[in-house]
Amino acid sequence: MEKTNKKPLIITIISIAITLIVGISISLYVKDQNYKKSYDYKLGKLGYSKEEITKIKSLKEEQIDIILNHEYSDIIIDLIERKYFLKKNLDKYLDYIKDNNKDLDDAIAIINVGANKEWYQDPVDTDISKENEMLSNKFHKLTNEYNPDDLTDISNVYSYGENQKLRRIAYDAFISMFNAAKKENITLIINSSYRSYEEQEEIYNKYAKWYGDEADKIAAKPGFSEHQTGLSVDIQSYNTNRDTFEESEAFKWLDNNAYKYGFILRYPKDKEYLTGYAYESWHYRYVGLDIAKYIKENNITFDEYYAYFIEE
Ligand SMILES: [Zn+2]
Repeated sequence: MEKTNKKPLIITIISIAITLIVGISISLYVKDQNYKKSYDYKLGKLGYSKEEITKIKSLKEEQIDIILNHEYSDIIIDLIERKYFLKKNLDKYLDYIKDNNKDLDDAIAIINVGANKEWYQDPVDTDISKENEMLSNKFHKLTNEYNPDDLTDISNVYSYGENQKLRRIAYDAFISMFNAAKKENITLIINSSYRSYEEQEEIYNKYAKWYGDEADKIAAKPGFSEHQTGLSVDIQSYNTNRDTFEESEAFKWLDNNAYKYGFILRYPKDKEYLTGYAYESWHYRYVGLDIAKYIKENNITFDEYYAYFIEE
C-alpha cells in the first residue's frame, strides 16, 4: 500500500516542479523580450547614457523613432528639438556640423535652404504652381519662357519710368500700402518691378562687365531674379537712392508696416549666407499677409520659410 501511495506523490511533486520551472522560464523570457522592446534597451544598445535616455524618453514618439533609426550622435537630441528641424535633412545637418563650427540653428537654416552648396549649384525649377508663394533664389530657377499671365501696367502715380509691371495681386497690395504710407506723408515709389528673362540677362551682363565676380552679389543671373516673378518691387522715395534709402522715413515706415500689406524685406541685413544677396533695403517681395506676418515676427528669410513650410 505504502509503495502505491508514494508514487503518485512523487509524480505530483515532479509535475509541480516542471510547471513552476516552465512558468518561471516563460515569464523570464517574456520579461526579457519586453525589455528588448523597451526604449531603455534599444537606446542603451545604440550607446546612449542613462542621462541621455531619460531626456530622449521625454521627446515625442516620432522624435524618438528618428533617434532609434540613426546611429549614436551626441548632438541629435539637441538638434531634433530645434524649431526648423527637418527629418529628411538629419544626416546633412550632422555632416555639416561635423565639418563647420556653426550654431545649430544656423546649420539647420543653411542646410534647409541648400546654402551649404555653392550659389547656383544644382538649381531646380521654381514651382510656379505655388503662385505668390513661389520661390525664386539662387537654387530655384525660372525658365526663359516664364512670364506671369496677369502682369498689370503700373500707373506712373506709383512709379518712376515707363513700362513698369506687376502681377495683379502684388500691384493691388502695393496700392493699399502706398495709400497707407501717403496718409503719414510718406511717398513710396516703385523704381523697378517685373523684369523679363531677357531684361535680366542684359542687366547681369552689364554688371558682370563692370564688376566681374562681384556682380553676383548685386545682380541675379537670368532666370534667378525674383523680379521675373512679377511679385517684387524696388522701392524709393523722394531724394533717396539705394545708398540712402535705409536712412529714409520711407524705409522706417516699410520696416514697421510692409508686412501688413503682404510684403517682406527680401534680402535682410546679415542674411547673405542664406539668401546669397547683400542687404537690399529697397527690395520688397509680395508673399501674402500670413506669410509676411510670420516672417516679420520670426525674423527668418523667405528662403527658410519656403524650405520648412512650403517645399514638399
Ligand atoms: Zn530688386
